[in-house]
Amino acid sequence: MRSFRAAVLNEPQTPMSIASVSLAALKPTDVLVRIRAAGLCHTDLEVIEGSLRYPLPIVLGHEAAGVVEQVGAAANGVKPGDRVVLSWNPHCGHCFYCDRDAPILCEQYLGEGSKALPFDGEARLSLSDGRMLQQLMFLGSFAEYCVVADQQAIPVPKEMPFDRACLIGCGVMTGVGAALNLGAIAHGDAVMVIGCGAVGLSAVQGARLAGAGTIIAVDLDPAKLELARRLGAGVVVNASSDDAVAVGKRETGGRGVDVVIEAAGSSSAFRITSEAVRPGGQVIWLGKIDVNKDVSFRWGSLMQEKRIRRVSYGNARPRRDFPLLARAYLDGSLMLDELISRRIGLEEINDGFAAMPHGETNRSVVVFD
Ligand SMILES: [Zn+2]
Ligand SMILES: [Zn+2]
Repeated sequence: MRSFRAAVLNEPQTPMSIASVSLAALKPTDVLVRIRAAGLCHTDLEVIEGSLRYPLPIVLGHEAAGVVEQVGAAANGVKPGDRVVLSWNPHCGHCFYCDRDAPILCEQYLGEGSKALPFDGEARLSLSDGRMLQQLMFLGSFAEYCVVADQQAIPVPKEMPFDRACLIGCGVMTGVGAALNLGAIAHGDAVMVIGCGAVGLSAVQGARLAGAGTIIAVDLDPAKLELARRLGAGVVVNASSDDAVAVGKRETGGRGVDVVIEAAGSSSAFRITSEAVRPGGQVIWLGKIDVNKDVSFRWGSLMQEKRIRRVSYGNARPRRDFPLLARAYLDGSLMLDELISRRIGLEEINDGFAAMPHGETNRSVVVFD
């Protein structure tokens, strides 16, 4: 039995502890990945804060890249030595939603997700006192190794640096995917992106890759707006002093923008989206707030054939999209270096999360030697 170090959350609102965990024998379709980089995402923070509840103890982390160390006897699509980005959306392939091309709604994925265990319900990891250990979002990548289903380990080119590759697994896929897979952005369209964290900055880049004409970035932080400019936004709006809706209208001859992508996760941001989009235009919500909170809209802002969609993984098809995003980075069209604000060791993970709510710019990434 192999053992390795992992950051374990025992109770919400307490620091994670670095523990030695043991790995059971691989099941036939399991893949053991040696993690080389893992990004800190807001969803992890929600579990730490207790607003998102999972069984405990648990290993968090769901945005990761590494190298395949070992594969089960029936594992498909990967082999030892492959450099991989991990997907958090395993799906069965044959349920009502999988048949309708919506793996993010897969009945097994949603049904098993809250248990934070693989689809077969059996824990792969345990603590030295024998307690079994959950893995957030079928991953649990704040650890030296991670056991995943074969379909979750997506090979990317060997040239792809791990710390930038890991971002593709959640934040970048979510933001770029919203623009490229869902936005139906036509060449020359005016696109507004609200919120310029890692997801929003990825959406800005997705809009640029889709051929948007005017890209308007909205945030409260001048440093993030400056970064948005470097990554493709032609117009930036500091919402603490300027009216994003008015700027959107000004840039489009009074019509409103064609597509609004929201990546801020606040009620006021959701409200701006429907006001800023033109009649017949499209709104994509990526952010989230407490599920029991209300959001209010002016009814008139929802009229006139507007399309509003909430998505959580950019309509990801990881086997199609992860290699494409990696190649876009390698050819210089997708900028990822700029999204990383801090690289930390596993021991510093609590500090990394402590800095997150204070709006420290963009992604912190745990890197492993
Ligand atoms: Zn995430
Ligand atoms: Zn399914």
